[in-house]
Amino acid sequence: MFPTAFRPSRESRRPIRVSFEFFPPKSAEMEETLWSSIERLAPVRPHFVSVTYGAGGSTRERTHNTVARLVRETDLKPAAHLTCVAATKDEVDDVVRAYWEAGVRHIVALRGDPAEGVGTAYRPHPGGYERSCDLVAGIKRVGDFEVSVSAYPERHPEAPSLDVDIDALKAKVDCGADRAITQFFFDNDLYFRYLDRVQARGIDIPIIPGILPVQNFKQAANFARRTGASVPDWLAARFEGLEDDVGTRKLVAAAVAAEQVLDLVDRGVTDFHFYTMNRADLVYAICHLLGLRAASAPAPERVAA
Ligand code: FAD
Repeated sequence: MFPTAFRPSRESRRPIRVSFEFFPPKSAEMEETLWSSIERLAPVRPHFVSVTYGAGGSTRERTHNTVARLVRETDLKPAAHLTCVAATKDEVDDVVRAYWEAGVRHIVALRGDPAEGVGTAYRPHPGGYERSCDLVAGIKRVGDFEVSVSAYPERHPEAPSLDVDIDALKAKVDCGADRAITQFFFDNDLYFRYLDRVQARGIDIPIIPGILPVQNFKQAANFARRTGASVPDWLAARFEGLEDDVGTRKLVAAAVAAEQVLDLVDRGVTDFHFYTMNRADLVYAICHLLGLRAASAPAPERVAA
């Protein structure tokens, strides 16, 4: 059964809250796309916006610069992603301190992928944080940060079982994690079954669904293969034959994403984290369907379908 704590009645339901994930841009052109997307999405008043940290710490500077600019130039609340990879504890702590000094109060703490690439064995950096739960504890030692962590409704590819994976989540919660954001999924039942097991394990932090609006099916399917997320046949069928038909693909993408989030709303979910891929249009449309309106207009209740 879906736990009561996660499934408020329609009357007592909290307002819808969204957060957006961006990645740091590599070029001037990508920088322009990112900032115009941020400008477009900011008026829906996200709870926070997060900026990823490249594999192997490859975007340390760019992540920091993007997050610092968000603090300086917007009234959005940024969350900086940070991993344990390729750095000593002291180096990671310095990054965390720099975030505190820049006014950042929220970090998404991750172990990160193996430095040699996904699929190879993970080896902690000598002198580095060994696991994500150690990083969570380290961040909390540096400052009173809000810390979000990852969660995997279909288990992390390296975990021998979902129970082992949920134990890792429990370790992160015991080290002070305030919230978990899930890997993306397309079958909502998987998410609800995961919540049941998480709750049975005594985990009571919010587990926010990570939503990947499918802008490009082929890319999303590749991404899913690498992260262990399943791609249902019905999803593939919906995009079948649209490889060269951008216009229809966009309409189908909007319909598919709307179907997923509105079903989650109907089943009691109020918080959503969107993997934006630095693109605003589809996410903005979904937020509109969720009843979110630009800051100047009052946000109406979503009308039940
Ligand atoms: P963890 O939760 O630490 O788990 C990793 C594996 O180790 C699992 O198999 C787990 O079962 C096992 N494990 C962990 N702790 C224990 C323990 N105490 N005992 C036993 N087993 C344990 N990657 C980036 O490089 N940059 C990003 O910005 C980034 N952002 C992400 C955001 C979200 C919301 C998500 C879901 C993932 C993100 N990732 C990012 C990917 C992530 O770094 C990889 O999936 C990585 O392989 C695992 O890191 P983790 O913190 O998610 O895993």
